[in-house]
Amino acid sequence: PGPQLPHDPDKKTIVVLGSGWGATSFLNHLDTADYNVVVISPRNYFLFTPLLPSVAVGTLSPRSILQPTRYVTRHKTRAVEVIEAEAQSVDPVNKTVSFVDNSDIQGSVSSTTIPYDYLVYAVGAETQTFGIPGVTEHACFMKELNDAEKVWPSFREFLLTDHRLESAAFPGQSEAEIERLLHMVVVGGGPTGVELSGELHDFLEEDLKSWYPELAGKIKITLVEALPSVLPMFSKRLIDYTMSTFKESKIDILTQTMVKEVKERSVILAMPDKSIVDMPCGMVVWAAGNRGRKTNKRGITIDEYMEMKGSNGSIFAIGDCTSSAHAPTAQVAQQQGSYLARAFAQRVKRDRLVDQVADLERSAAMSLHEDDRKKALEEAEGAKRQLAKFKIRPFSYSHQGTLAYIGSDKAIADLPFLNGSFASGGLLTYYFWRSAYISTLFSLRNRTLVATDWLRTKVFGRDVSRE
Ligand code: FAD
Ligand code: NAD
Repeated sequence: PGPQLPHDPDKKTIVVLGSGWGATSFLNHLDTADYNVVVISPRNYFLFTPLLPSVAVGTLSPRSILQPTRYVTRHKTRAVEVIEAEAQSVDPVNKTVSFVDNSDIQGSVSSTTIPYDYLVYAVGAETQTFGIPGVTEHACFMKELNDAEKVWPSFREFLLTDHRLESAAFPGQSEAEIERLLHMVVVGGGPTGVELSGELHDFLEEDLKSWYPELAGKIKITLVEALPSVLPMFSKRLIDYTMSTFKESKIDILTQTMVKEVKERSVILAMPDKSIVDMPCGMVVWAAGNRGRKTNKRGITIDEYMEMKGSNGSIFAIGDCTSSAHAPTAQVAQQQGSYLARAFAQRVKRDRLVDQVADLERSAAMSLHEDDRKKALEEAEGAKRQLAKFKIRPFSYSHQGTLAYIGSDKAIADLPFLNGSFASGGLLTYYFWRSAYISTLFSLRNRTLVATDWLRTKVFGRDVSRE
């Protein structure tokens, strides 16, 4: 037997796969009075990814940027079933989805199959490693909460213990070994790598300098990017601003340089002049972009209604798991989620009209009196006319701008509504960046927790002690 669904046999069932940006926005905007809704995700919370780099350096606590999915669904008109499991396969012919419970504590049933009328894929993407040797074994990622949670203890574990900072401070350690231990490499000059480098710099400047003054000058951050410039999605002015800010912050940027291998104590680089360099380092964070999940590496092909090609109106996909003209951003996933929820509200009205036509035609066929028959047929014609006019509008993306924090209380912003871009630093941007993120957070609970963490960090600094 499958799980107990909040099932109303008169309503169609939507199964949503995922609990990230796309799925959460979809759930926030969906009128659950119209449908039975089931959410399946191995992660039972929404993660506010833009602030993940801040968790990696301990500016924010992990719990401050997550929102349990049940917090989202508990306010809905009708109950939504939230299942913590990983979808494994979909049978589009019989319209069923099979999933497994991957959690540590399992009941007697750990895998099952349920039917759907509509399926919404919002499963996101995986970190792209390009099969480069050593990445999975020796680098930290920056995608999920546990990735950031690994980076933060890594600092404490490796930088702040006998083995790293303190061992670096230990007399007798060779200069070269001290340099290696205190060298952090970030791979990927997209927004994730740039924001993380900025946050790392703040951590070193604001906290480590006062805790380890004798070593602070030796700590080095290098950002490696294969393309000729970092942040290709930003305007040239903002790229230059970032490069000069990083120069001031003493973050080295190596462009046109590709990481070929990650080793335990170094990274192998293909330099712009094609030479190969073995660069010693103490820690590597891999932020080299996304790829589709195992089943669909290229992404799901969708039309402008978010409908999967060839699915006959029963399977939809939103966000990073799709291959579309849009960038894999939270902004796109969020807009696609809310669009799809509105389209489902339209769909239910259309389905009602279809049912109405069928009912009226049936009652006309069964009428004993000619007047009743005519009346039912006229009404059916009226409903058909309404149906003919019925159109679900295609998705259209409205770009609200791009914002990135680059450290040292500086942010960059490309804002289309200001007819161009502007770059600024200092207190104004610091507050603008923070207020933009605070207002985008989904709940008062998250806003309060993030604001409190920022205040805590400002007043007391980050906690650099070892647990
Ligand atoms: P996700 O949010 O990744 O959600 C995918 C969901 O699917 C997760 O809940 C996952 O657990 C679930 N899932 C996975 N496998 C299965 C399965 N088999 N069955 C069921 N569920 C499954 N974008 C911006 O626009 N602005 C930013 O400032 C920004 N900052 C970012 C910072 C970082 C560090 C990162 C990593 C990304 C950032 N992004 C930003 C990009 C943004 O996070 C993604 O584009 C967005 O998360 C995509 O939303 P999604 O719903 O498609 O996928
Ligand atoms: P990305 O794909 O934007 O950047 C990854 C970078 O890594 C690329 O520039 C690529 O050239 C480089 N790279 C790949 N392999 C490499 C190698 N072996 N050696 C050196 N460099 C290598 O990835 P991202 O930064 O994680 O961003 C993913 C998506 O999330 C993007 O759409 C981005 O816009 C979005 N995002 C937005 C923000 C923001 O708006 N503030 C923040 C983070 C992410």
